[in-house]
This record gives sequence, structure tokens and C-alpha cells, in this order.
Amino acid sequence: MITGVIFDIKRYALHDGPGIRTTVFLKGCPLRCVWCHNPEGQSPCQELLVRPERCLEECDLCLQTCPETAVSKTGNIIRVDRRKCRVCGTCAAGCPAEALAIVGRRVTVDEVIEDIERDDPFYRQSGGGATFSGGEPLMQADFLSGLLDACRSRGIHTAVDTSGYVPWPSLDGIREKVDLFLYDLKMMDDDRHREWTGVSNAVILENLKRLVRVGSRVVARLPLIKGINDGPDHVEAAAAWLSALGGIERVDLLSYHALGGDKAVRLSRPGPSDDFLPPSQRDLERIKKRIQTFGLDVRLGG
Ligand code: SF4
Ligand code: SF4
Repeated sequence: MITGVIFDIKRYALHDGPGIRTTVFLKGCPLRCVWCHNPEGQSPCQELLVRPERCLEECDLCLQTCPETAVSKTGNIIRVDRRKCRVCGTCAAGCPAEALAIVGRRVTVDEVIEDIERDDPFYRQSGGGATFSGGEPLMQADFLSGLLDACRSRGIHTAVDTSGYVPWPSLDGIREKVDLFLYDLKMMDDDRHREWTGVSNAVILENLKRLVRVGSRVVARLPLIKGINDGPDHVEAAAAWLSALGGIERVDLLSYHALGGDKAVRLSRPGPSDDFLPPSQRDLERIKKRIQTFGLDVRLGG
């Protein structure tokens, strides 16, 4: 039985493809975007999330039950020693305040499909379906393939939200099962792409070219962060490249939002700097118009 690790299922999603959708977030990502808004999707493993502000003053249950003595409390501040923690989940299961929680659960294809099928009437009314996101869903290619097969056999529309940073055979292996790719383009300059995401964009661009050539439906998505990649250097280079490529269905402009910072801190990782901001609405409109001059259909939001 094929299983995979997911960290969330979001129902009634309106920005992850056409219509009303259920978005399944698969855990694990090969990129380390500095602005990541889903840091809990980066590691392929389960993780312990700590929300100290929820901890109850008189309680010390987790200190008593942790088999690794990884939890300590100073005053009302709960701390977990990540070097000792084995992510066994004992503390999270017993915490009355949900101050501790395990992120990520191993599930079967059937379990996920059961959730997806619940909203089938909404998909049919709205032209929606299921979207597989992450993290990078193709890091669990066999699991993703099983999910896509199960959706297809039930007539459920599918979208895959990908960074494109995967070996071509992985994409090639699933592309005929996917109704729509939502394909991220974060930076056109390779040095800057390495600097901000940790990897080169060469594979990403090459895979996008190949996907379009073989006739897959693709919406390109440009996440935009003020002062990082909303300038003409990136925007115009992306528009020119996509226009020359031809066959892209649309370009979606995704404005940065700062939700990832808190989540990263709760996982004991450095979060994005407070200096990251979304472009202003005026700048987004300006970028949209500029990209349209390259003959591309552009939309604000996903
Ligand atoms: S997940 Fe397990 S090992 Fe880690 S702090 Fe909680 S009880 Fe201890
Ligand atoms: S079990 Fe929960 S509420 Fe109790 S001390 Fe631990 S984190 Fe705080």
C-alpha cells in the first residue's frame, strides 16, 4: 500500500487552481526559499511544533512524560531541546492546551481520497477539483502518482503546484495524469535564484520548457516580494522568457504574505526577515500591465 506524509488538507480553497478545490499539502521540499510561507513543508519528516504562548501556567505534563527529557520550563516558557527530541509525539498527545503539536502525518492514498471526495458536488458545480501542493509534491512521486490515479478514476480534476526542481523523469511520469500544472518561477537570474532559494533555476526552466513542449497545461506563478523580485529585471525577463516559450495558459502574480515567520520560529528555525514585504497594489497593477505587453494573460492572485 502506498503511503505518504502530508502536513495539511485545506478544503474550499479558491486560489489553488480553477473553481472550489481541496488542496493537499505534501511534506518535503528541495528548495529553501528565504521567504517560505510553508516552512513546515520543507522537511520530509514529522516535526514538533511548539506554541509557548498556549502553555498553561500550572501544568508540567510534558516534562513528566517526555521519554527523552527534552522538555523544560522556565517560568511559564516551555522549551524543547531539539537535539534530544525524537518526535515521538507523547508530549503533543497529552498537552491539554495544544501548545505542542506534531506536524505531518503518514496517510494512505485511500485516506486522502476519502477527504477529497467529500466535496465532489462543489467541484462539479464550480469546475474545481483537487490540488496537490507542498512543499514539493513531486518529492513523493509514487504517492502523488497514486493520488492522481485515484482522482482520475473518479473524474476529479487535478492540479499540481510545483517548484519544478525535480528530475525530469518524475515530471514525465505523472504529467499525463495531471489536468493543470501551477508552476512557480521565483527568479530568472540564476545567481540570485541560488542566493534566495538555495538552488539553481536551470532545471526548473528546462523542465518547464519540456512540459510545454509535450502539451501539458501550465499556469506560471510568480511569487513577488518587494525589492527582491518585483523589479523590472526579474519581471521583464520572466515575461520575455515565457512569451518566447509560448503555450503558457496564464501568469498568476502571487503577492508575498508573512505567515511563514511565526511557523518557522515554532519549528526552531530562522524565519523570514521582517523586512520582507508584499509589493503595493499599485506596483502589482503596474507589473500586471507590463507582463501583458508581452502578449500573456495575467491575473493577480492564484
Ligand atoms: S516529541 Fe517526544 S521526545 Fe520530543 S519533546 Fe515531545 S515527548 Fe519528548
Ligand atoms: S503539556 Fe502543554 S500545557 Fe502542559 S506544560 Fe507541556 S506544553 Fe504546557
